[in-house]
Amino acid sequence: MKLGSDVGKCQGYGNCVAIDEQHFDLDDDGMVVVVQQEVSEGERETTEEAVRSCPVAAIWIEGAR
Ligand code: SF4
Repeated sequence: MKLGSDVGKCQGYGNCVAIDEQHFDLDDDGMVVVVQQEVSEGERETTEEAVRSCPVAAIWIEGAR
């Protein structure tokens, strides 16, 4: 599975980073950066929680929208 993101939507709340720092980080402007695109089956639950935590739907798992 792969992650998708729309940085233009990100409001920099940081929820996703707090839950899943293996996949998400914030850049110097406080906007989300996907640091690892691949999501393994073992990581999926945590990454899905991070995706759900985003109040503006700026991140998603490809094919799961
Ligand atoms: S939770 Fe959403 S709005 Fe907040 S940093 Fe992550 S992608 Fe951006």
